[in-house]
Amino acid sequence: MSGFAMSNFKPMQEAERSVDRILIVDDEPRMRASLATLIEGDGREITQCASGTAALALLEKRTIAVALLDINLPDISGLDILKWISGNHIPTSVIMVSGDDSIDSAIQALRYGAVEFVRKPGDMAHIKHKVDSALHRRHLEHRHALMMARLEQSERLHRFLVENSPDLIYTLDDQGRFLFVNNRFESMLGYSRDEVIGKHYSTVVFDDDRELVRFIFNERRSDNRASANIEVKLKAKHDGKTWAYESRCVVAMLSAVGIYGEGSGGQTGNFMGTYGVARDITERKIAEETISFQALHDHLTQLPNRRLFKDRLELSITQARRHARMVGVMFVDLDRFKLVNDTYGHAEGDELLKSVAQALRRCVRAGDTLARQGGDEFTILLPDLAQAGDAAVIADKIVEELKQPFHVAGQDFRATASVGIAVFPRDGDNADTLLKNADIAMYKVKAAGKNAYQFFTPEMNASYHERIGLENDLRLAIERSEFKLYFQPQFSVVRKRIVGMEALVRWQHPEHGLLDPCGFIDLAEETGLIRAITDSVLAQACAQLAQWRAWGHSELRMSVNVSPQEFDRGDLVDRITSHVERHRLPHNSLEIEITENLLLQDVSGVIDKMRMLRDRGVRISIDDFGTGYSSLNYLRRFPINSIKLDQSFVRDLDENHRHSPIVNAIVGIADGFDLKLLAEGVETDFQRRTLQDLGCDEMQGFLFSRPLPAAEAARLLAG
Ligand code: C2E
Ligand code: MG
Ligand code: MG
Repeated sequence: MSGFAMSNFKPMQEAERSVDRILIVDDEPRMRASLATLIEGDGREITQCASGTAALALLEKRTIAVALLDINLPDISGLDILKWISGNHIPTSVIMVSGDDSIDSAIQALRYGAVEFVRKPGDMAHIKHKVDSALHRRHLEHRHALMMARLEQSERLHRFLVENSPDLIYTLDDQGRFLFVNNRFESMLGYSRDEVIGKHYSTVVFDDDRELVRFIFNERRSDNRASANIEVKLKAKHDGKTWAYESRCVVAMLSAVGIYGEGSGGQTGNFMGTYGVARDITERKIAEETISFQALHDHLTQLPNRRLFKDRLELSITQARRHARMVGVMFVDLDRFKLVNDTYGHAEGDELLKSVAQALRRCVRAGDTLARQGGDEFTILLPDLAQAGDAAVIADKIVEELKQPFHVAGQDFRATASVGIAVFPRDGDNADTLLKNADIAMYKVKAAGKNAYQFFTPEMNASYHERIGLENDLRLAIERSEFKLYFQPQFSVVRKRIVGMEALVRWQHPEHGLLDPCGFIDLAEETGLIRAITDSVLAQACAQLAQWRAWGHSELRMSVNVSPQEFDRGDLVDRITSHVERHRLPHNSLEIEITENLLLQDVSGVIDKMRMLRDRGVRISIDDFGTGYSSLNYLRRFPINSIKLDQSFVRDLDENHRHSPIVNAIVGIADGFDLKLLAEGVETDFQRRTLQDLGCDEMQGFLFSRPLPAAEAARLLAG
């Protein structure tokens, strides 16, 4: 864009001075002198020339306002000078002065452009008057020229300002049609001037904003004040940028003012049209929208976040209350997501969450809101439920959809979900209660084995509060070391002595007394508190084993139960061996019991960790064997030392069922794979005999001893 150059002011100043410049051309010195004296005056600059040549030279150089020219000059005649002045459009008023009376020369002088013709010597007062009035005219002409120049200057300035304005400037006629648009119109909206002049303004306004701008564009208010700063969406012809709302949309801040004719008696005249200015605020709008999107959406999945979800839920409740409808709230929590995250890393975990978000999106309807609460928790708002059963249909779909494996980073992941549902108004009359109750129902599903959905029921509330209380207690228990070990002996019926001890954790609860693990292990696993418990158990078990071995039971083994969940932690192997080494125990004096279910989880890291443990000499035993679905293939793949026949099979052995095909098979498997077999839960002598007859040597159960505190277990050992 070229800048605006103010026109050259120097000639203007020169012209200013020249209006008082008078030239006297006469060959008679006395005449010149008396004329000069005659016309002298304030500020007047009088120059005298004795010849035509001198006069021409001067006139070429300087601007003279009025020249008094003697017709008869020795060199060039006054008339020739006059002709030259007229021919060259020199702005000098010429008063012809002549000594002769001939009418001819007077006529000629006036024809060639002289303003006056006077005789000399003649009436000097008359001559003076003619000079004064010629000078006065020049003054007027000059002022006029000056004014015209200034006017032009200012018009150019205004045109420059209008055309180069960063804002779009336009005028409309009284019908709302474009009369004028500046250059910015084209760069902002892409239409050329010719395309829009004469068109109605609405052709460049988005449909949904037409009503809004009706009064702004076509400003008709009589108070004549501008309506300022209205945000309008304008239609752009090009779509070079990414626009905020949809492509080809420019968001503009519009101000307009009505144009009225001259009225009479202080009244505003006729409405003639509008003048307006529109500023492009698209970039700002995009920035604003991005910020507010970020504030209300989850950055990983781009789903609405907790805040937006709650806003929408509250709105839906208000509407449902008015129309006596129902609102469904679903809490969706992925089962064992933590395992994926910890085993494969957060990047894979994030990818899985994105895939899950997509799968969930496929399950909800257009008007529903799917949101991410955080972590692996999603919520779904069903704003207008005809019946509670409709929520079940969607929940069903979700559970089914998530049963499909997700392919992430070259692996297949399973991310089944537990879904809890609460319905307004039945299960709560506000957003918080509904969310909480959906959450409670979800936890019920988890407790009942995951991968399903449930509706909230009031009875769930009590157990939920119990659970929350328990979780807090559990945290305190870790701080206060309230976990104690009981030991249950493992007997070799052939050798007739205790060959091992199983460490079984107990919680010495300050109010509820001694608690069995079944009441808190699940919760500890869910909350991650299991890690601290495992460490405490390992430390106590190894210390106890070291003491007993020091007391002479040098062959004694210790079995410790380790939750499957621990196997997703990278440092498990080191944690286990460090406890063994701290007490200088041989690695093979410790046996890790893991439940058969662990083997079902297709988590690759598990086998690696088992192998590392085995390589260091630590023994591995499969607990509750027979309850899972492990195929023989598993037994071949996993580096294990022994299997523990589950109590349920032992329990089934009685006088009426001497031969259990399952027990037979398991004994055969142990034999075939060269694994030590231990029978759990042996309570009767009959069971002991039957198992022994089948070839099972090691046993554990109430028949031999219940789990005992360390001191009592020691007495049993000594006995
Ligand atoms: P488990 O490892 O299969 O432990 C055997 C359970 O059967 C023990 O229950 C024991 O008291 C019980 N039991 C032993 N003999 C008999 C019998 O003759 N008849 C009957 N009816 N029951 C018998 P407990 O101590 O309540 O432990 C339950 C489960 O808790 C354990 O099953 C184990 O899976 C888990 N657990 C125990 N301690 C720990 C621990 O330190 N860490 C972890 N992660 N889990 C543990
Ligand atoms: Mg066990
Ligand atoms: Mg067991």
